[in-house]
Amino acid sequence: MGALRRKLTRAGLSGLLVTHLPDVRYLCGFTGSSAALAVTRFQARLFTDGRYRSQAEEEVQAADVEISTSAAAIAAVQWIAAQTAVTSVGFDPTTTTVAELARWKDALPARLRRSLLTPLAASLIEPLRRVKSEAELAVMHEAALTGCRLFDHMLSILRPGMPEIEVAAELEHQARLFGAEGMSFETIVAAGKRSALPHGRATANPLPRRGFLTLDFGIILRGYCSDMTRTVFLGSPKAGERSAYQAVLEAQQAAVNQVSAGVRCGDVDEAARNVLRREGFADAFTHSTGHGVGLEIHETPRIGAGQTNRLQAGMVITIEPGIYLPGRFGIRIEDMVAVTRIGAEILTPAPKALIEL
Ligand code: ZN
Ligand code: ZN
Repeated sequence: MGALRRKLTRAGLSGLLVTHLPDVRYLCGFTGSSAALAVTRFQARLFTDGRYRSQAEEEVQAADVEISTSAAAIAAVQWIAAQTAVTSVGFDPTTTTVAELARWKDALPARLRRSLLTPLAASLIEPLRRVKSEAELAVMHEAALTGCRLFDHMLSILRPGMPEIEVAAELEHQARLFGAEGMSFETIVAAGKRSALPHGRATANPLPRRGFLTLDFGIILRGYCSDMTRTVFLGSPKAGERSAYQAVLEAQQAAVNQVSAGVRCGDVDEAARNVLRREGFADAFTHSTGHGVGLEIHETPRIGAGQTNRLQAGMVITIEPGIYLPGRFGIRIEDMVAVTRIGAEILTPAPKALIEL
């Protein structure tokens, strides 16, 4: 909260309205599904409803709690407007709908409607969330290792004929048994020709006798997401399939090797892209190399072509180049890595050499 207040002052604001729930959780620890946090230079107050009375008392740190009967954000807007010396209150336009803003303004006294609420050009919280604390890194490491255990478990049960949805169901069932609160996103299971779909949802299709199988999945542990992808081969790969896999693996490792505090995100992307270009797969790599991850599955920074922002120690990002050849196959390999001053710490040490099942 101290770092946020310094940013508030620097931005010339006297208050901040926080309604994006992952931001609320990050700032004060509250995990409920209905909340708004009002922050001034001297106070912070979390608004939620009666269902969350005891949960808020248990969880919330560094903020007072107020149980309101009106919508949490409305109560927060009205409270902050009534504070002395609060003249401009920032809010994040990227997480606020036009309808919400209209409701907030309607709840204000007429004289404040035009002047009080100020859309922020850039989130004040996002830069804080980008760099993880030691405690956050420890949880994320545990989440990532749980992902690796899951992959290991899956290797022992995958067999041709098993429907993709059964693969996803088994993975998600086991994830809960391993302590996951949920999945970070819809589990991707894409086999054979369907592996050429970068976001292939699991279908009723059976796993083929031979072909690639891509598993992209993540779990949520104490609020933090993990994310990893492994592509394995069912049966025995042909030379072309094997060399395509090697190209993706080499691209993935080149990008991981590029990671270090101070390096431009675009340069990490280029390291992967460069290998795939050389191997003739430039057009088959159709997405960015990676993304930040944390309380949300997709956070900043984006590890994409031309990105000039620089990595900082403590960021957690994914490195996930892939190639997609429609009608034939696709391959993606994804690790979660923590950026350090001297390189990358891989949080997902599951094997990456091509596994044949
Ligand atoms: Zn993923
Ligand atoms: Zn990812």
